[in-house]
Amino acid sequence: MGRILIQNGTVITMDPKRRVIKKGAVAIENDRIVDVGRAEALKDFQADTVFDARDRIVMPGLIDAHCHNVQMLARGLGDDVDLIAWCYDRIFPYETLLTDEATYLSALLCCVEMIRTGTTCVCDPGGYRMDNVGRALAETGMRGIIAWAGMDQWSDDRALPDGMPGKLSTEETLRVEEKLVKDWNGREGGRIRACYGLRVEPNVSDNLYRGINQLAKRDGVMVEMHAAVNKDQVEWVKKRTGHTVIEHMNSLGILGDHWYLIHMAVLTDEELRMLKANDCRVIHVPGATLHGAYGSATVGKFPELIDMGVTVALGCDSSAANNSLDMFRAMYEAATVHKEARIVPDLIAPEKALEMATIDGARAVHWDNEIGSLEKGKKADVIVVETRRSNWIPLHDFSLIPTLVYSGEGADVETVIIDGRVVMEKRKIKTVNVKSVLRRAQRATEKLVKKLPYKLQPKWPVE
Ligand SMILES: [Zn+2]
Repeated sequence: MGRILIQNGTVITMDPKRRVIKKGAVAIENDRIVDVGRAEALKDFQADTVFDARDRIVMPGLIDAHCHNVQMLARGLGDDVDLIAWCYDRIFPYETLLTDEATYLSALLCCVEMIRTGTTCVCDPGGYRMDNVGRALAETGMRGIIAWAGMDQWSDDRALPDGMPGKLSTEETLRVEEKLVKDWNGREGGRIRACYGLRVEPNVSDNLYRGINQLAKRDGVMVEMHAAVNKDQVEWVKKRTGHTVIEHMNSLGILGDHWYLIHMAVLTDEELRMLKANDCRVIHVPGATLHGAYGSATVGKFPELIDMGVTVALGCDSSAANNSLDMFRAMYEAATVHKEARIVPDLIAPEKALEMATIDGARAVHWDNEIGSLEKGKKADVIVVETRRSNWIPLHDFSLIPTLVYSGEGADVETVIIDGRVVMEKRKIKTVNVKSVLRRAQRATEKLVKKLPYKLQPKWPVE
């Protein structure tokens, strides 16, 4: 902490005018940005630390609007299966076996990967043992929002493993979630927040919908939920309630701007209107739909949602469902998959993809008064991206944002500042010992995988 000046870089502000300042500078004092402008105008700022950002972009830290910290050790466990098998056969048994220590290591590894690729804020829909995730966010310096993935009903076709920590009654779920919000919302000087969460519709009763909705409104926080993820899930809800997913929530009278709805591949036009009318937040996870074939690209209505003015943010999901946590890749996917699916070359512009990963993400999590752009008075979540690299040259003013989205990658990120603290400098993470995290995570996972109720085999002989 202290006074930091980042100077001589190309500053992409993401402010309301979307100013880009060549030879720009950002001045930081403790956790706040105190000035943004031309380097010349800020040259007298007295700084303890000066970063020369020549041949670099200075921009807001990326916001991963959907990422499961607890699934980081499940990389490789969820490949090439449909959503139902992914959840109930592969990942829920994995989450059931997670110990406190394994959850903590999973989250540490997840934070390392996010910081390395320029993500400064994560919205985590939960799993369980979430105190360990909070602890990892606190220690690595990440900004984030955590939740408990609430569930209170299960059927034969959506059975939960015995001992799964989320397998609770309605009342127990409400109490455990209330406690998580009380314990974690506002921690670390406000850098960590907590909200309510529901896992996925087939495991949520109407009583739980109503109860969670009431608590979230009382506490002034959001409810995160995977919703309308694919056709199967929507058909299941329709059979059970007679309504599609958003119609059903609308019939319960609970929709509002606190609903934070993830994936949302299968929606009717009437549901789009309900989302708009209630200012619901929608989270697009293109990497997960490409990996798990949900339909978000083929039948999803993200271009329409964006045109209607619904807040659409961007997420990576998890290392078991994407499997990349690189938000640069997510921006690329958001700006390309719909073009291909509809054979229309200008559907979601790269500038829009960048908004989704920054200022729209901030709005989605109700934090845009403090993050999502580089503006005086906002929190200092800033990344420095190197552009004197073969994937960036040649670079023109007119191609700056398209190049960032179409050619940039997480590995281009050089320095990461979160809440005014330098957490990565010249690609070295300063808050944790990365080598030790990698070693411990690999060891913990090998132990866990042996206990899984299924065995995966390589397709090719491994000698
Ligand atoms: Zn998810």
